[in-house]
Amino acid sequence: MSARAYRGRFAPSPTGSLHFGSLVAAVGSFLDARHHKGVWLVRMEDLDRTREVPGSAAAILSSLEAFALHWDEEVIYQSRRTEHYAEALQQLLAADLAYPCSCSRKAIRQRAEIGPEGPIYPGTCRSGNQPDIATNSIRLVTQDRDILIEDRVQGLFRQNPATEIGDFVIRRVDGYHAYQLAVVVDDAWQKITDVVRGADLLSSTPRQSYLQQLLGLAQPRYLHLPLAVDRSGRKLSKQDQDRPVEPKDPVTTLLSVLAFLQQPLPPERPESPEALWQWAIPRWRTEPLRGTSSREL
Ligand code: GLU
Repeated sequence: MSARAYRGRFAPSPTGSLHFGSLVAAVGSFLDARHHKGVWLVRMEDLDRTREVPGSAAAILSSLEAFALHWDEEVIYQSRRTEHYAEALQQLLAADLAYPCSCSRKAIRQRAEIGPEGPIYPGTCRSGNQPDIATNSIRLVTQDRDILIEDRVQGLFRQNPATEIGDFVIRRVDGYHAYQLAVVVDDAWQKITDVVRGADLLSSTPRQSYLQQLLGLAQPRYLHLPLAVDRSGRKLSKQDQDRPVEPKDPVTTLLSVLAFLQQPLPPERPESPEALWQWAIPRWRTEPLRGTSSREL
């Protein structure tokens, strides 16, 4: 690892309480940060107020505390940082790297080919009559070239955003800045050196890397943890009632997260989550996870 002082983060969206999959991301990012004697931050990704479940941000933070996942510095809330995203957006618009788009979803579906992430935006509004900026979505101009990500667990990941995704939305028609833009602005602002999160976000990483290049921001290292899936290969979501995270018995839950992450287990049951971390932090290894993008629970 480089000499830059390690800064990691856990960035939950408050769309429900902590579930097993998000606890895996919290634990993986925490262990990696603490193993490297780094700082570990929590950022509440509450940009999209329409998806927010009232009370879930506070519930997530109290679950983290119950698991002795103690964060450093103040929790930041994306909903309070709109001006930072607006500034980045202005920078992209001023450089002609972004443009307003009035295409409806239906119109896009009718014209677009389907890529790995859904319809590939066919570039309809990229040139010609540009619609009003204030009342439409804003898309980023993509370039037809591969972006390579060297992931610490998943290895080399390659994506051509232009041919696989198309120009993507960085501010939505309802005025909310998109996740891809906000995450890049915040990772840079918080000086994050290492992003550790679930493998469902691996395919977003080239878009984030591209945005970092355009905005002149440093690129963190990436580590995408295996995703917890059910028997049919479906990602566990916050809606899954069958796998609630139980902070009332934190040690049992944390032992199952360690087992999921293929970490060694203590010979005796630790008395507290703190004792469990004392055991697990020095023994954190990413090698057993190499190349694993999902694991059944
Ligand atoms: N807020 C995102 C989520 O809960 C995670 C974003 C990230 O870690 O980059 O899925």
